Amino acid sequence: MTRYKKRKKRRNPIIDFMLAGAVIALTAAVVFFIVSGNDSKKTKEPELAASDISKENSTFEGIRIVADVSNDPKIPFALHYPETDSSEFNKKVLSYVKSAKKEFLAAMDNETEDNELGELNITLETYPHKDNFYSFVLAKTMSTNSADEKTTYKTFLYDKEQAKAVNIATLLDNNTDALELLADNVQTNLSDNEELKNALIADKVETLTAPKWENFERFSIEDDALKFYFNDYELTASANDTPTVSIPLSFVDPILAERFQAGEVAATNILTPKPRELDPNGKYVALTFDDGPDPNSTKQILDLLDKYNAKATFFLLGNRVQYYPEMVQEEFKRGHEIGNHSWSHPQLTKLNVEQVQQEVNRTDDAIKAAIGQPSSVFRPPYGAINDTVRAQIPTPVELWSIDTLDWKHKNASMLLPAVQNAMHNRAVILMHDIHQSTADGLDSVLAYLQGQGYEFITVSEMNALPKATN
Ligand code: ZN
Repeated sequence: MTRYKKRKKRRNPIIDFMLAGAVIALTAAVVFFIVSGNDSKKTKEPELAASDISKENSTFEGIRIVADVSNDPKIPFALHYPETDSSEFNKKVLSYVKSAKKEFLAAMDNETEDNELGELNITLETYPHKDNFYSFVLAKTMSTNSADEKTTYKTFLYDKEQAKAVNIATLLDNNTDALELLADNVQTNLSDNEELKNALIADKVETLTAPKWENFERFSIEDDALKFYFNDYELTASANDTPTVSIPLSFVDPILAERFQAGEVAATNILTPKPRELDPNGKYVALTFDDGPDPNSTKQILDLLDKYNAKATFFLLGNRVQYYPEMVQEEFKRGHEIGNHSWSHPQLTKLNVEQVQQEVNRTDDAIKAAIGQPSSVFRPPYGAINDTVRAQIPTPVELWSIDTLDWKHKNASMLLPAVQNAMHNRAVILMHDIHQSTADGLDSVLAYLQGQGYEFITVSEMNALPKATN
């Protein structure tokens, strides 16, 4: 044993040298193997298909169109997508295009029949908005031997000025109330479509139009419309019925974040309360409140109206709207109608045309600033109206049929008798929400009218009622 050890110690240096060499070579081989293994994985992707990539300028400055077309007849594809001056934005687009390509090639790899071919196409549509936003709609159509042709959509909204992508939450200013209104509108838009009525799968429509941000990520915006895209077989059993929902921009404008607003708002828009279907033979009353808003008494009145599930109409003074816009928002949010009652409560018949216009328009501007849309009805102070004044008013002019004289008696206990003594079906009752006595006397008025079987509606709803048939 001793000898053996000694012999080992005295091993020939040439052997040591060779052993060391072998270790180095082996390590190098392993390293090479790992590196080249990684390398082949990395380089494999672009090699999936030989393709020609070309770029050309679009009609929109700073937007280029990339065409990626396969030269391999066994895996034919033609992909078109946008390129902007923002590398971050371009990365998002490229990542989508790459994954589409990968999915297609993987699907083709699984195909057993060599003689038949699948196909992948991505087409690009570009919609400009306000000379700064570009919606890119990428429609991907893919087919393989074993799967029918199917079109799916991917959209990107590009903000040129900020050089970044915009999602639906940003478009709606991260407002979940706006999302709910939008979701509701898209759902109605689908279910009201006569052509689609029988094709739509109700469960799927409900799930995919639920008020969740991710349900509305596929959209485009242009100067006259906001569009939402659905994939084949997402809402219908047949690809022929795949819908696109297009909403006029003037309808949704009020719920867009300011920088996306085109500024034109339709008289009936997404914020307009839906007209209720009312039985013309029912008993109706329109409660109206003038001269507000007031931060205290108006609030009390709003809570009472909620208690009786009553909708009313508020005729506002512009010079008060500017101080209490949040009270106007509250009235509007709770489903009441917003009317214009002039800026400073003058007798309009004594003013010249220009002054009348100013009283009316200034108030509408203040209302619009508060709730995103102008008033829908007008009531002249003191009921003073003539043809010249009327010609300056863009909305229907509404007077009243019962005056409670609440401004005169300012007595809570006198409000109910004033209503009781004059009550009739389809009455329009005049009150003032700036008086605490009116707020205090309202509960008994609401209780009485409800007990008499009256339903509380807005003046516009009252105007829209057809004549009773019995
Ligand atoms: Zn008044």
